[in-house]
Amino acid sequence: MTDEAERKMQFLYTLRSKGVTDSRVLTAMEKIDRGPFIRGLFANRAYEDMPLPIACGQTISQPSVVGLMTQALAISSRDTVLEVGTGSGYQAAILSQLARRVYTVDRHRRLVREARQIFETLQLSNVTAFTADGSFGLPDQAPFDRILVTAAAEDPPGPLLAQLKIGGIMVLPVGQSDTVQSLIRVTRHETGFEYDELRPVRFVPLVEGLGRD
Ligand code: SAH
Repeated sequence: MTDEAERKMQFLYTLRSKGVTDSRVLTAMEKIDRGPFIRGLFANRAYEDMPLPIACGQTISQPSVVGLMTQALAISSRDTVLEVGTGSGYQAAILSQLARRVYTVDRHRRLVREARQIFETLQLSNVTAFTADGSFGLPDQAPFDRILVTAAAEDPPGPLLAQLKIGGIMVLPVGQSDTVQSLIRVTRHETGFEYDELRPVRFVPLVEGLGRD
């Protein structure tokens, strides 16, 4: 077996052993190579199950956490999905394999620009990235079937709850930055919102306003 094939097998084995069992999610993660989303010093560690630094002082999430969050969203192929926190674009690329349409926003222009380039190279034509403060969602594209937030807020932002369709699901980390945060799933019913706590996680904070670069 080549080194690359072996690394890929190990990557998928680790995902499964950490609870990523949904075959559509595993197929998407097999297809989207994490390598191109990591530039510079850490590029050779792309297949480790670790969060890694990216530009603008942000991080690309740990692959198993990407898998578990994607799985918790239970995306169907007709869904329109909003991701808040584009970062490297890796999570959005995985979502693009499962949903009809993906919108992703980040407060850093540079991250959005670099992610767009990768989406274009990989010919992921159903993902659109915007520079915006994602705590306000995307009113022009709303409502959404699924919303994923990949930065931690103290509480689910009101505009995001409002932009979730009835029957829709939002997955997000909540809690103060640098302490233990919880990944939660919010399901919108006709009569209100249901909250489930999924697991402890650690994400960079959701920050107000646009970044300087
Ligand atoms: N999903 C990314 C990892 C995200 S790291 C990936 O797959 O690589 C969290 C990202 O959230 C950072 O890029 C940060 O800039 C962004 N972020 C933080 N607060 C934000 C806000 N209010 N609106 C939009 N993006 C925000």
